[in-house]
Amino acid sequence: MQTLNDINLFQQSAFINGEWVEAQSKARVIVTNPATGEEIGSVPDMGSAEALKAVDGSHDALQSWKAMTAQARADILTSWYKLTLDNAEEIAFIMTMEQGKPLAEALGEVKYAASFIQWFAEEGKRIYGDVIPSTNKDQRFIITKEPLGVVAAITPWNFPLAMITRKAAPALAAGCTIVIKPANETPFCALAIAKLAEQAGVPAGVINVITGNSEAIGSVFTTHEKVKKLTFTGSTPIGRILMQQCSSTVKKLALELGGNAPLIIFEDADLDKAIQGALFAKFRNAGQTCVCANRIYVHKKIYSEFAAKFTEAVKSLKVGNGLDNQVQVGPLINEKAIIKAEKLIEDACSKGASLVCGGKRHELGNGFFEPTVLIDVDKSMDIVSEEIFGPVAPLIRFESDKEVIEQANDTIYGLAAYIYTENISRIFEVAEQLEYGMVGMNSTAISNEVVPFGGVKQSGFGREGSKYGLEEFVTTKYLCLEL
Ligand code: ADP
Repeated sequence: MQTLNDINLFQQSAFINGEWVEAQSKARVIVTNPATGEEIGSVPDMGSAEALKAVDGSHDALQSWKAMTAQARADILTSWYKLTLDNAEEIAFIMTMEQGKPLAEALGEVKYAASFIQWFAEEGKRIYGDVIPSTNKDQRFIITKEPLGVVAAITPWNFPLAMITRKAAPALAAGCTIVIKPANETPFCALAIAKLAEQAGVPAGVINVITGNSEAIGSVFTTHEKVKKLTFTGSTPIGRILMQQCSSTVKKLALELGGNAPLIIFEDADLDKAIQGALFAKFRNAGQTCVCANRIYVHKKIYSEFAAKFTEAVKSLKVGNGLDNQVQVGPLINEKAIIKAEKLIEDACSKGASLVCGGKRHELGNGFFEPTVLIDVDKSMDIVSEEIFGPVAPLIRFESDKEVIEQANDTIYGLAAYIYTENISRIFEVAEQLEYGMVGMNSTAISNEVVPFGGVKQSGFGREGSKYGLEEFVTTKYLCLEL
């Protein structure tokens, strides 16, 4: 059987200023496989001293990286992209070992992650400025775009590779340098992609990956004068803390925070399509994505039929270790995630909801939880307002468009929403009233490298992917010339 030690890209040191290094204290953070509970390796337990070093290294590397032509940077990024694809299977294996998602999904994430590198390598050549017609015959107005400088990134464990390339690729393409702190649950994908960046010829200090104490490293990232931007994907509570910390240096921020996505199925929906869409949006990554369907609203005329067919489909999902063939739902990341799912189910059932499948820890043990469907859910239940982050699907009955739009918007979050209807007028009427950064209309597979991903309200701000994602890493400079 393959093990991580057979894999060249399996790195257990941090990457600072072009060197693979240990923590000053020599302390380490243990990483476990959520499917087995077994230790798979460890990474340096670093803190503020190493974070300062990484920021300094990144700052030193900035001048020469930003002075390169966009084409020269694109050439390096293109090699990085190719190396990522060449090593896709190894990275996917690392990902399944540390994160738990099924191997096929992990491979999908590697390709998705690589697509950002390729796309931004190209788009980096199209960072245009402007010449604005002058209001004064003796003056000329020229607008240029400049790289922001050193960027710090804090990333989550649910997409351990894509959340990194979605930030690092546009940053590097724009001429910025970056220091990345991956989640402690999943540092190995981050270190693997840094290794490939090194092989691709990314100069020392341009990309750094530092592991260890989140608070200590985060506080250097947020308060250091040399860091010009913090880009964060994670929970809303941590996002609030980081935003507050960034105020001391008035740092530019991008926050991709929690979600509470409604998926609305109208009475005129294509039911089979809606079922497939709901399955993908709910059970991908065992329900651990910020755009997962958190609340499934079904019109009362089709509620029973949808619930029956959807439950049948959920019952057929294969749960297991992501390395096993055909597995569709892997383990949850940790015990805390399981306890959260249990609590939300218990609360819903105590207030009148019923379980039609699943509802408890899976017999496989460890991080496994049964894919679950709850019916007769209503807004009095915590599951409607909290982000579930697990394989639990609550079905809520609704009667009118107005009522369901109000309920869908009745949340602090505003990341993704989904609607299913065959009525084109309704599609636009509803989509325009939904207070969300992204709306999937008869589709739940909405994210890719060419479109802007991001939210409104307390789901954060800033966009990743697309030309909008590149704009996040440049600043606009106005040059006024008197003739
Ligand atoms: P989750 O609950 O999904 O793990 P978090 O928001 O807690 O989401 O974590 C997202 C990322 O933020 C992880 O890399 C984590 O290590 C990091 N993190 C958590 N707390 C802090 C903090 N106080 N300062 C900086 N980073 C943090």
